[in-house]
Amino acid sequence: MIKQFKKISTLALLFTCFACSSSVNSTDEIEQKVERLLNQMTLKEKIGQMNQLNIERDVEKVANRIKAGEVGSFLNLRDPQLVNQAQEIAVKESRLGIPLLIARDVIHGYKTIFPIPLGQAATFDPDVVKEGARVAAVEASSDGIRWTFAPMIDVSRDARWGRMAESCGEDPYLNAVMGVAMIKGFQGDSLNSATSMAACAKHFAAYGAAESGKDYNSTFIPERLLRNVYLPPFEAASKAGCATFMTSFNDNNGVPSTANSFLLQTVLRDEWKYDGMVVTDWASATEMIAHGFCKDRKEAAEKAVNAGVDMEMASESFVQNLEQLVKENKVSESTIDHAVRNILRLKFRLGLFDQPYITTPQSVKYAPQHLAKAKKAAEESVILLKNEGETLPFTQKIRTLTVVGPLADAPHDQLGTWVFDGEKAHTQTPLKALREMYGDHVQIIYEPGLTYSRDKRTAGINRAVAAAKRADAVVAFVGEEAILSGEAHSLADLNLRGAQQELIHSLSSTGKPLVTVVMAGRPLTIAKQVEESDAVLYSFHPGTMGGPALADLLFGKAVPSGKTPVTFPKMTGQVPIYYAHHRTGRAPSGTETLIDDIPLEAGQTSLGCTSFFMDAGFGPLFPFGYGLSYTTFEYSNLQLSAKQFKADEMITATIDLTNTGKYEATEVVQLYVTDLVGSVTRPVKELKSFQRVTLKPGETRSVKFTLPVEQLAFWNFDMKHLVEEGDFILTIGTNSDEGISTDFIVTK
Ligand code: BGC
Repeated sequence: MIKQFKKISTLALLFTCFACSSSVNSTDEIEQKVERLLNQMTLKEKIGQMNQLNIERDVEKVANRIKAGEVGSFLNLRDPQLVNQAQEIAVKESRLGIPLLIARDVIHGYKTIFPIPLGQAATFDPDVVKEGARVAAVEASSDGIRWTFAPMIDVSRDARWGRMAESCGEDPYLNAVMGVAMIKGFQGDSLNSATSMAACAKHFAAYGAAESGKDYNSTFIPERLLRNVYLPPFEAASKAGCATFMTSFNDNNGVPSTANSFLLQTVLRDEWKYDGMVVTDWASATEMIAHGFCKDRKEAAEKAVNAGVDMEMASESFVQNLEQLVKENKVSESTIDHAVRNILRLKFRLGLFDQPYITTPQSVKYAPQHLAKAKKAAEESVILLKNEGETLPFTQKIRTLTVVGPLADAPHDQLGTWVFDGEKAHTQTPLKALREMYGDHVQIIYEPGLTYSRDKRTAGINRAVAAAKRADAVVAFVGEEAILSGEAHSLADLNLRGAQQELIHSLSSTGKPLVTVVMAGRPLTIAKQVEESDAVLYSFHPGTMGGPALADLLFGKAVPSGKTPVTFPKMTGQVPIYYAHHRTGRAPSGTETLIDDIPLEAGQTSLGCTSFFMDAGFGPLFPFGYGLSYTTFEYSNLQLSAKQFKADEMITATIDLTNTGKYEATEVVQLYVTDLVGSVTRPVKELKSFQRVTLKPGETRSVKFTLPVEQLAFWNFDMKHLVEEGDFILTIGTNSDEGISTDFIVTK
């Protein structure tokens, strides 16, 4: 039954568009098919399915292994002809004809690159994020990629960690909402559609808490914190039907995730009833030897498989050792069957047995509608951090504009980290966009000052300053090159690199209106540059269409609506820094003495013995959820449906939002809840909901939230997940630090 594929040449397959199988297999049918197939498989063939190999092109070299059923999946194979060739070998020449899973890191776009995930999170717009993932799936599946290693939903609270760029920021709820949006976009309406990609929730778990932000570092997250902060996005992913999960590199409290049966079995399978597939991270099975957790590759395979891993990425310890481990009764064949079931189930769900070959046209890459969606996402991802004296948007008075900075025309760098397939030739940089879109009525002078973000040569700065003096305003594009964030790209210093600080300082000294645009993979410590600029836009790495998006924002054709998805520190020493921290016994009063005001020979207790830094104070540079607009919004009239609720009831909260400024604009209205007293200490507040609301100037709208009281549940002192009775505060506002509050009580 498995081998009933039409004989058809690879080339013909590539260019023929088949009608996709419209029949969606029911779960029962799939389970029966999985069992029937599993029953025909030898142990060796089963183990082969658990093996994922990394090859980019050389299908010939591994043809015999495919025929022998030694490979279940490839990562990084992406030439459509080669993908079809490999599939043809698998389905026609292996004994059981099981198709291959073709995987790749399609993180924030395939060809059309969207803002980095951190930037996408700044949109607070799950619809736009879902669209981005859909575009990625349509483009990547046209090259045969049906499985992406995304979304990355590691709660990230330490900007030193380069992989914060890939995450949706510091908040569990935001990561959950955005992660689910990405999953829905990647997987489409049905996994078995030709343009769907299986998503992969990664990295399970707590990888974002790497000690000191150094990549791959150990984490020490106790179970309660794990369950309250790091696991919720993954639970949401599991509920949303995310097809696969990936284990993380880190060891938590001494146990590497790839051998963590508490995570992979107790939580994922027993509690969440997850029936998808679990893959290791790249060689994370055999890295357990380097961790000092396994003595050799054989033990690594044993521990990983017994903990609940289904497929091994790249390191081949399973395929080399599992047969022997079964013989020695160290791994049971039923454990292997369980893993293989998960793999086959996915292949059936993806419809690969019905249609293993590429059926979609190649022409979708960089399609105009994809570029338009990428522009919209970029526009919404940009955060206005400062706008003194309404510097922005530029008005007709700006006749000459000087464009400066190493990121003004950096087609590679504005794409950001984790871009393997997007080509810089397609990137529209701010310089290009400003010239093309606004060059007719504004004279654009370009003088970069520095050629790249780490450039320390100051000679160009004088030229940039001279050019600035000739203009009505200056826009400086600074930040980080793409390579400075991402995997294994941690930093101990979050200041602007090279001579960029000097560049901003010199431009500021000209007295010309200075707009600083920061493109980066993380929040950088830019307190001084914010002070020296009249306006600041933070765009993270905005992707292919970042230029047109920024050009329209600068000239007011679009209005900024992005909000910080992470807390922006003033100084690196403040990290990890996040709004939902627990309350200490010594909250700052605001009267603490900071370092420059400490009198000589001051007494030990004279500063105010509270929880703060003498040099950085207590607060961040910008709180979580922060972002200005060209217009102004006013919040008023917060109302709750009642003052008292039971755990199974709904809270309805309404607030009036008025656009009190001059521009039609969108505000991200945020709802936070504070649990005042708990059986364990609780965060100062937690984001529970948000909405994007667009209003015309002068318009008022009543914004309504319905919040199930259940959403206030947490893992408490007894490690039970429940809502504790007591007093709560509900706050609705423009960021995590400003809003209108009211109280309510939860009773039995
Ligand atoms: C990363 C994963 C990625 C994998 C495959 C690893 O180094 O941690 O996030 O999916 O490589 O490229």
